Amino acid sequence: MAFLELKNVSKGYGATGQRTEVLRDINLTMEKGEFVAIVGYSGAGKSTLISMIAGLIRPDAGNITLNDLEITEPGPDRGIVFQNYSLLPWLTVYENIHLAVDQVFPNWAPARKQQHVEKYVAMVNLTPARDKRPSELSGGMRQRVSVARALAMDPQILLLDEPLGALDALTRSTLQDEISRIWSDDRKTVVLITNDVDEGIYLADRIIPLSAAPNATLGKSVKIDLP
Ligand code: ADP
Ligand code: ADP
Repeated sequence: MAFLELKNVSKGYGATGQRTEVLRDINLTMEKGEFVAIVGYSGAGKSTLISMIAGLIRPDAGNITLNDLEITEPGPDRGIVFQNYSLLPWLTVYENIHLAVDQVFPNWAPARKQQHVEKYVAMVNLTPARDKRPSELSGGMRQRVSVARALAMDPQILLLDEPLGALDALTRSTLQDEISRIWSDDRKTVVLITNDVDEGIYLADRIIPLSAAPNATLGKSVKIDLP
C-alpha cells in the first residue's frame, strides 16, 4: 500500500464549453519517508497539483489517498508551505507557530506547547528573532517561520509549494541547506514543487517532471542517488 497515492487525477478550470484541462491523468505513488520533487515550468499546473494534495481544491476526476484515506479537505496531517509566507502579520514568530500548535494539539498543557514551539523555533535558527513580527524579518526568515510552523503541526507529509521561489539566490541556497539538514534529522515525507531542477536534484530522492498545461501530466520519475 502506497503512503500517498494519486490515481488518474484530472483538473481543469473555466466554465463548461470553454474549460481547459490543466492536469490530465496524474498518477503518483509515494512511500513514507520519501522526498519527491515535482519540477515544471511556471503555469504547468504545479500549484494546482499540490493544492489538491493539500485538500484545498478537489480533482474533477480520479482520487487522492493518504494512508488509504481519501483526501477531501485540508487537514493537520498535511503541513503546507507556500511561496508567499502566509504568516499572520500581527503575531510574532513564536505566536504564529503557537497558534498552529494550539489548533492541532488543543489539549496539551501550556508548558508542553511552549516547549514544542521553542523546539521548532530553534530548529530553524530563529530563537533570536522569536519575538519579532513578520514585517521585521527578511524573506528567508519568514520562510523559515513557515517551515517551522508546518513541522510543528507534526504532519504526516510536508507539502512545499515553491517555498524558496521568491528568495534571492544566496538566501535560497542557505534555506536549501536548512531543509536538507532538517530532513535528514526528521525524516518526513515531503513533496516539493519547484521550477528549479537543481533544487530538486539537491534536495529530493526522486524528481518527476510535469509537462506544461493544458493536459499536463507527470513524466517518468528519476531517482537521485548521491555519489
Ligand atoms: P504552476 O503552479 O505550475 O505555475 P498553476 O497550477 O498555478 O501552475 O496553474 C496552471 C494553469 O491553470 C495556469 O494556466 C493557470 O493560469 C491556470 N489556473 C490556475 N488556477 C486557476 C483558477 N483558479 N482559475 C482559472 N485558471 C487557473
Ligand atoms: P536569511 O538570514 O534568512 O538568510 P537574508 O539573507 O535575507 O535572510 O537576511 C540576512 C539578515 O539580514 C537577516 O538575518 C536579517 O537579520 C537581516 N534582514 C534582511 N532583510 C531584512 C528586513 N527586511 N528586515 C529586517 N532584517 C532584515
